[in-house]
Amino acid sequence: MTASPAPLVALEDVHLSFGDNEVLKGIDLTVARGEAVSIIGPSGSGKSTILRCINALLAPSSGRITVNGVRVDTLRTEAERIGLRKRIGIVFQQYNLFPHLTVLDNITIAPVRILKEKRAAAERHARELLERVRLADKVAAYPGQLSGGQQQRVAIARALAMRPDLVLFDEVTSALDPETVGEVLAVIRGLVREGMTSLLVTHEMRFAEEISDRIVFTENGRIVEDGPPEQIFHRSQNPRIRQFVRGLG
Ligand code: ADP
Ligand code: MG
Repeated sequence: MTASPAPLVALEDVHLSFGDNEVLKGIDLTVARGEAVSIIGPSGSGKSTILRCINALLAPSSGRITVNGVRVDTLRTEAERIGLRKRIGIVFQQYNLFPHLTVLDNITIAPVRILKEKRAAAERHARELLERVRLADKVAAYPGQLSGGQQQRVAIARALAMRPDLVLFDEVTSALDPETVGEVLAVIRGLVREGMTSLLVTHEMRFAEEISDRIVFTENGRIVEDGPPEQIFHRSQNPRIRQFVRGLG
């Protein structure tokens, strides 16, 4: 028997409370290197909280979280947490680009300031990433001159500029005009196909089914089912999941 490699991300019995409100009630979740896992489930079920625990924006009340073999739930100093976040890209619904910086500078600022990359090297990498997100012609533009979908693609390039081990995507298309959603999903699809380890929270059910290796369904702070897309979308015995994936909330 060959031992399976340790997962890149592992949560074991993670609990988290805000005051008396326990919002994570024993989460067990793994993401293997190169895997794409989508978390789906009703609003308020704890999806964003899970992502925020993984990059140490929140500390769980109990349980263990490891990323690349390092315990992240017990990091003590802000410097340690920043060290972790360098290795994890995160893309939110609100892209929060710096409005006074060009697209190129939005992408190079963190590699130059935090990773101490040489400006020329950081710019070369940024231009490659802009090709990848299909915005090579927007290097000199300012965020305000771009559509929401274009800004979100810049935000993805900005996350990739740090050469992360893993990218977390939290409802990155939820705030976009419908006509720009497809171009953002196409970029994520490309990254997943290239083997970027990805953990996504999404309401785009068909997209999640198409690109994910596994789907995790959360409700009320618990993982109700974790399995291949085919199982969750077509063979789940759970009435709540069947209702949800049919778009009935
Ligand atoms: P989801 O992403 O699935 O919609 P969240 O992880 O954002 O859900 O939230 C889970 C629960 O935690 C919700 O009940 C939400 O109101 C609560 N919550 C999230 N963030 C905070 C916070 N900073 N303070 C208090 N409660 C919070
Ligand atoms: Mg959320």
